[in-house]
Amino acid sequence: MERLFHLIEIAEKQKLWKPIKLAKKGPPLTYLAFADDLIFFSEASVEQVEIIKTCLDLFCTSSRIKVSQEKTKVCFSKNVGWNVKTELSSLLGYQRTDDLGKYLGVQLHHKRVSKRSLQSMMDHINKRLSKWKANTLSFAGRLTLSKSVLATLPTYTMQTVYFPKQCCDELDRACRSFLWGDSSNHRCVHAVAWETICKPKDSRGLGVKEARKVNTCYMMKNCWNICSQPNLLWLCVIRSKYGCGDEDIPLIHKRVVASNFWRGICAAWVKVEQSLAWSLAWSLGDGKTIKFWADRWLPSKVVLIDVTTGPISIDLLKKTVADYTREDGSWNLEGIHDLIPSSCWNELKGTAPPSTDNDGDCLVWGGSNNGVFSMKSAYEALRTSAPSNLKNLFSLIWRWPGPEHIRCFLWRIAHNSLCTNDWRLSRSLTYDASCKICHADRETCIHILRDCDFSRKCGVQS
Ligand SMILES: [Zn+2]
Repeated sequence: MERLFHLIEIAEKQKLWKPIKLAKKGPPLTYLAFADDLIFFSEASVEQVEIIKTCLDLFCTSSRIKVSQEKTKVCFSKNVGWNVKTELSSLLGYQRTDDLGKYLGVQLHHKRVSKRSLQSMMDHINKRLSKWKANTLSFAGRLTLSKSVLATLPTYTMQTVYFPKQCCDELDRACRSFLWGDSSNHRCVHAVAWETICKPKDSRGLGVKEARKVNTCYMMKNCWNICSQPNLLWLCVIRSKYGCGDEDIPLIHKRVVASNFWRGICAAWVKVEQSLAWSLAWSLGDGKTIKFWADRWLPSKVVLIDVTTGPISIDLLKKTVADYTREDGSWNLEGIHDLIPSSCWNELKGTAPPSTDNDGDCLVWGGSNNGVFSMKSAYEALRTSAPSNLKNLFSLIWRWPGPEHIRCFLWRIAHNSLCTNDWRLSRSLTYDASCKICHADRETCIHILRDCDFSRKCGVQS
């Protein structure tokens, strides 16, 4: 196989093989290979067919391996005309298909993922369920089976596919019915609410996991990968395709036209970004990447700009942690004492300054103690997350003693529903999320209310 890849690489270098790109700045793709599964990518043209055939022929004659006519298929993009498709597939001599089937055991989705496209997985689970005689097992036995088998069957697919709500509901329903011993013609009493069953054991529950949350956790893991391993090929493709930018922490925008995977990422990103305790944090190395004011890098996970006691200029915002050290390696915090509340000041003083002897700064998963992403920490965070905080937030808004229209305005902010350019971009109402006043990259709610030059001046005047 190495020989084949080598041939392809030579052909690519000589500009004979024209790779495809999924985005302008994206990496060029020529082939993907895992064991004996191979996918080639190239432009749809007669010349390219000739090149592919030459490479394959050369490889086949030298290795005496044959290409399987049955298993090999050609798939064209939607933009290729019917005549071209017919011509090229007959030239290649392989069957044409609109559906590539499975790759490494995962269904490749060419259309919108719906309940129907996941039907085979559901059938698999139902088949498994019908084999077990629920009424001969004890409650504890059914609990063990539903936790260890039923809940793990869909997880492989869940790692890359964001399930429609219906599917998650159906999975939960199957799990619930099995637990209480329902059969096709007899429904038993479900004596404890599903919500309670899904709580951890020390909170009156049984620790059963909800399908939607498990699915979201896998998507959070993908978010984490996008941040922490931007150099992997598949992540390069994703980052360029969806315009994530060059920073470690990507810009993640919803798109009207997006793959199922991207929808999943956007849904999970909200969870990653929203809550302080378990979102992304930095581990201080040489301090050259971390923004002193805007990034989460202090051990207490406080972001300085959130607690600052005075306005911070845009120039200060750009400063890295390394900018606040002297040549001898000690902190150089002159002139900013008044901007930092005393608790943070003490913490800052007690933190070892960055040093050029250290490795570079690196992102860590704020949710776990060792900074490594784990499904357990993600699930725990999801379970205990936002709703309670949000509830507090909303009651705070409605209890605020000011005029009603300001309360309504606050309510809109809390729902992140101000028509900022960032918001408009997410709905494809504009192509540009930047602020027209100060030209910051993203005009978000927090930007127009707090970070923008203009609003800062208003704040100082009033
Ligand atoms: Zn601005």
